[in-house]
Amino acid sequence: MKCALVTGGSRGIGKAICIKLAELGYYVLINYKSNATEAERTLDIIKQINGEAELLPFDVAAKEQVQEVLGKWIDTNPDKHIEILVNNAGIRDDSLLAWMSDEQWDNVLDTNLNSFFYTTRLVLNSMMMQKYGRIINIVSLSGLKGLPGQTNYSAAKAGVIGATKALSQEVGRQGITVNALAPGFIKTDMTEGLDEKELRALIPVRRFGLPEEVAHAAAFLASREAAYITGQVLSVNGGLYS
Ligand code: NAP
Repeated sequence: MKCALVTGGSRGIGKAICIKLAELGYYVLINYKSNATEAERTLDIIKQINGEAELLPFDVAAKEQVQEVLGKWIDTNPDKHIEILVNNAGIRDDSLLAWMSDEQWDNVLDTNLNSFFYTTRLVLNSMMMQKYGRIINIVSLSGLKGLPGQTNYSAAKAGVIGATKALSQEVGRQGITVNALAPGFIKTDMTEGLDEKELRALIPVRRFGLPEEVAHAAAFLASREAAYITGQVLSVNGGLYS
């Protein structure tokens, strides 16, 4: 059975990617950290479209928990191969560097960057055995450009971009592609406090993007036909200068 694991699938961009991959026939593992109600909602939508999925909660920033929960799932489901991994779970906690606490730095780095390592290394083994895989890392314009007030987040996302490029060269000959998607402003809980009316003047298409528009790009990179695209960062940002 072909499976896809989407971290942070309870809300926003991850939710849209879960639904899109289920529509494409994947059995979807919906990861989330704590919002079980929203995760159940994603699962319900998938069931309504006759898709298949299950919830797999774990904190992507907690090394032992990832090993325990995801490692156990992999061991107990030898018939299900995770062909697609979408490292999407992320947080931001903005502050000017001068006032940034250790906790703000560590939480953002752990959730956005270290999580890539904890999750990907577990899934990679079976992809290498199958000689097929698609790894898609959700990064950000902030990781390409650097944004003031986000040194923690920019550093984490830039780190994932470097990891994407490096890993793509390690596993290319095993039929595994590794790419990143860099959204600009997308309408989710993460951007809820931002003033779209003011910010849209900066965006050539004059609006925030939708989670479904990022999901569409993820589905493209996840397709079999995208086999010759690897180590790339695809921006989904309405033309915002990056
Ligand atoms: P969101 O609406 O805030 O949703 C975040 C998702 O990540 C939720 O499902 C949340 O689970 C999950 N999550 C957070 N911390 C986690 C952890 N430690 N372990 C497991 N799951 C965790 O965010 P979003 O806007 O969809 O963002 C998704 C990704 O896109 C992030 O990597 C973000 O950095 C990136 N991005 C977003 C934008 C944007 O404009 N929205 C722009 C650029 C990049 P719970 O529901 O359990 O909390």
